[in-house]
Amino acid sequence: MTTDLRDRPFPVARKARPISWLFLGVLAIASLIALDALARRGAERWALSQVRLNAEAAVGLRVAMLRSEIEKQRTLPLVLAEDPGVRAALERPEEARLLSLDARLEALAEATRAGAIYLLDTRGMTIAASNYRSDESFVGSDYSFRPYFQTAMTDGHTEHFAFGTVSLRPGLYMSRRLEGNTGPLGVIVVKAEFGQVQDEWRRFVEPTFATDERGIVLVSSEAAWRFRATVPVPEHQRAEIRTSLQFGDAPLDILPIRPVQVPPETVVVDAPQALAGQTFVEVEAPVPTTGWTLHMLAPTAPSLPLATTAARSLALLFAVAGFGSLGFWLARRRRLEEEREQEAAARRELEARVAERTAELSDANDLLRGEMEERQRTQAEVTELQDELVQASKLTVLGQIAASVAHEVNQPVAAIRTYAENTKLFLDRGDQDAARQNLAIIGNLTDRVGSITGELRAFARKSPAEVSRVSLRAVIDGAGLLVGHRLRQQDIALEEELGAEDLTVLAAPVRLEQVFVNLLQNAAEALGDREGGRIRIAARADAERVIITVSDNGPGLPQEVRKALFMPFVTTKSAGLGLGLVISRDIITEFGGTFSADEGEGAIFTITLPRA
Ligand code: ADP
Repeated sequence: MTTDLRDRPFPVARKARPISWLFLGVLAIASLIALDALARRGAERWALSQVRLNAEAAVGLRVAMLRSEIEKQRTLPLVLAEDPGVRAALERPEEARLLSLDARLEALAEATRAGAIYLLDTRGMTIAASNYRSDESFVGSDYSFRPYFQTAMTDGHTEHFAFGTVSLRPGLYMSRRLEGNTGPLGVIVVKAEFGQVQDEWRRFVEPTFATDERGIVLVSSEAAWRFRATVPVPEHQRAEIRTSLQFGDAPLDILPIRPVQVPPETVVVDAPQALAGQTFVEVEAPVPTTGWTLHMLAPTAPSLPLATTAARSLALLFAVAGFGSLGFWLARRRRLEEEREQEAAARRELEARVAERTAELSDANDLLRGEMEERQRTQAEVTELQDELVQASKLTVLGQIAASVAHEVNQPVAAIRTYAENTKLFLDRGDQDAARQNLAIIGNLTDRVGSITGELRAFARKSPAEVSRVSLRAVIDGAGLLVGHRLRQQDIALEEELGAEDLTVLAAPVRLEQVFVNLLQNAAEALGDREGGRIRIAARADAERVIITVSDNGPGLPQEVRKALFMPFVTTKSAGLGLGLVISRDIITEFGGTFSADEGEGAIFTITLPRA
């Protein structure tokens, strides 16, 4: 039952953890990966949409550039078809006129940046050309096989993109028939070349190209892409193009541009080398009035990697902050939980200890109560034993004083006898007064005997220890009555200085009398037959106590007695018990007083008693 709790391990009840750190770690990593992917995809989408948005704006600009170039050139055949000089040259092709037309066309081509301007007669023969001075002059060349001539002759006008058979430069041939009074006069042709446009496109980072209705690249910032196709060209079309020499002997291969999935909706370019490996967003826009489509490849770099890096960093930052806070919060919650558990455990332990201590205390209390009862019993036994002892000691004294008391009684009895005989004589003589007087004396003497025997009886009786208010003088008188005869026998003077006042003390009367009897007896024994023996009893009082001294002029306390004063059975007398002083002191102590011995002329005993 009294196992020491401190020896036990501290009983902290650890609950199963609701979330393990390992699980949290896995969760954190998984969330991090998911968040990263999400951030990357989001950023990718956003960046691509931005690239596309910018590209769409830019492509509009490119279309405008191309269109303005075409439109500018397109007005030339229209104007020249109505020009009287041109018409005159067809109607009357004289050398001088033709030469002057050549010069005009040359100037015009230069001013409008047209590739070439030339005039064909109804047979398709070139009669005047802006490049009349160059090595590749068209003058005299037969272009009757060219679709732009044939169609113009039949339909009035046409536009035809083709590879130049002489210049070997591609261009857009715009032709218009000239009408005479009697029928067609010939065809004026303006060739628009796009070298400058292409040069301008090349200055931008976005590769740009224009395709015709069949998807064949006509104009391109990348020279290698020219006459390649965005979609496969059907075989019959291919043959047709070959024979017409529209694009020379170009193989009409597919463009080296492939759509890819990552990043979504983008394309990569395999050639040329400078562009290989890059990803682009491809935007298209129709080129109005031509049937062409303009394509522009907007590079995804650097917007895409920048945006994704920024987004991923931000996501990582958020994730770290989020998980950091979560971790901190969880750790804090766990710490609080542990503290709570520890507190609860400590409380439980405290309660257990309190309960245990309470049980121990209650046991100790029971034990104490038992001991107390035992002690009370022992005390009762001791008291009883002490009473017995007091009685025994008293009986010893009684034995010692019996003879003297008997003698004390004898005297009045003898006197009574004498008075009785005298009374008889007085009666015989008829002296009634004297007889009555004697009878009164006899009565008094009988009272005296009665009082002595009464005192003796009272003294001999087992006296109760109950304390009451007692007259000191009465007690000393009682003791005197018992010891008086002996004192007188030994011729010891008993001096009493009790003061005028009748001092009263709190004591049991017979027991207190026993103390005085003891002291008087001892003094008488110490004095023996010493000449002028004297015993003095003096009393005085203060507010609370009465101080009584009993002194004699005997030899004083012997050395061996003084050394072991108040020790039972210490006596110098052959018939003594050595209990008188011990019991006297016990009696006085019982009343709440003190009892001490001193050395003076003889022995001095001082008693203090509570004043009543
Ligand atoms: P007892 O009288 O049986 O010896 P007490 O306790 O009364 O026992 O006394 C113890 C001893 O103290 C006595 O033997 C005696 O030697 C000494 N004593 C007591 N009273 C006196 C006295 N008044 N004068 C000298 N000695 C005394």
